[in-house]
Amino acid sequence: MLTAVRKLVERALIGDSAPALVRFAKTVPRPIRKLVERAVIGDSAPALVRFGRTVPRPFIRRLQAESFRDVFRYAARRQKFLARKLREAGIDPARVRGPEDLGHVFTTADDLLGLPPEDFLCREPQAVFETTGTSGAPKRTYFSYEEIEAAAHHEGAALYQNGVRPGDRVVCAFDAGYWISSWVTFLACKKMGVFCSAVGKPQPKDLYSRLGLYRYNVIVADPTWLVSLSEIAEKQGAFPVKLILAAGDRMTDVYRSYVQDVWKAPVILGYGSTEAGGGLGMECRERAGYHVDEFDFLLEIAEPDAEGYGELVMTTLARRTMPLIRYRVRDVTRFIDEPCPCGVTLRRISRIRGRRDEMVVMGAGNMHPEIFERVLHDVEGLSDRWQVAVRQEGIRDILEFRLELANGTSPPAVEQAVRRNIESRYPEVWTNHVCGMYQLAFRFLPAGLLGQGRKPKRLVDERQF
Ligand SMILES: [Zn+2]
Repeated sequence: MLTAVRKLVERALIGDSAPALVRFAKTVPRPIRKLVERAVIGDSAPALVRFGRTVPRPFIRRLQAESFRDVFRYAARRQKFLARKLREAGIDPARVRGPEDLGHVFTTADDLLGLPPEDFLCREPQAVFETTGTSGAPKRTYFSYEEIEAAAHHEGAALYQNGVRPGDRVVCAFDAGYWISSWVTFLACKKMGVFCSAVGKPQPKDLYSRLGLYRYNVIVADPTWLVSLSEIAEKQGAFPVKLILAAGDRMTDVYRSYVQDVWKAPVILGYGSTEAGGGLGMECRERAGYHVDEFDFLLEIAEPDAEGYGELVMTTLARRTMPLIRYRVRDVTRFIDEPCPCGVTLRRISRIRGRRDEMVVMGAGNMHPEIFERVLHDVEGLSDRWQVAVRQEGIRDILEFRLELANGTSPPAVEQAVRRNIESRYPEVWTNHVCGMYQLAFRFLPAGLLGQGRKPKRLVDERQF
């Protein structure tokens, strides 16, 4: 009954017409609009997907601008951290209309790490999650139950868009503990009425033994864990799986195609973090960048280079417990503004190029580990252990490839393949080489020498400053 009424309201007010949706956004007072939005979309993942698929760009931009002003005003009044930053920068909150009015006011990971939570909390929290970084102390983000439910609603829409339906059986092997992702995935499945086991991060062999027993056909997990599971399945046999979802960070093309080959199923990547409250974006079947959740996040790219790549900056539009205003995510990406063939109008960002702190600025341009992954992954005769170093000789930057060769591989053939890949895949990087802005060098090492057993850091800057 309720669905029928909702359908009627939806058709009457908005229908399939984009101009009607814009008119709706422009003329209907906001409180009424919010009510109607809630009635039209409600808690239903398919309705949200329909909405996300058809909603015109001007409508999204308008919603985002309004939501930004709301959350900014709210945080300027209640968040000690932001109030202090604005005072220091001499910015009058009443004059701020968009992020462009905030100059160099950002929230950074170091702020979250170094300051007490009270500096960021705007009301009493109901849950806390952590991100464990490489540097020891975790970053903490606080939420209300409602905010976690909302994150699950949006993740549900992304799952639905990728084909997850009631009747499917999802196993989520994201690490649990203080990490948010497995909770959000579990709640997303619950909302959609989809069977779900969110079991923390078991040993791949323990999960493998249960795949047949529980008839899981959707696997959600981290890339390296998926590779280990797939190695077992390659030897002992794969089960029928229709979809694999992986947290995108560190899922190289080589991993992806290996996992897809073993299971004969598509691997779709998601992108998110604890600070984002789980997912920030997810690929569609086109697998060309992440569609981002523009209803909950306003994204900016800080200091973009010539190709548009820069550090991702995120403002949480919906959260009120611990809103983050212009949070510097440290990941490097760019916007993809061409419409996606899948039809979803939500904007895309590209695969993450690397961490801001892994980027090396040199004669070749802004270099990220991901560039070299794409250059090296299909060069024959290489092990997956490699390192690229930026050195300096005199006044010239040297880009040195340190590679381990399989027996019988000829070094000149590898050199030639690497040069060819740079030229075809990164023409600007190649042009800078041709212009003499840096030189290429190659060192071939016996197996096992790089990194002494551990995986070597992929890109290192060895110049003296
Ligand atoms: Zn798409």
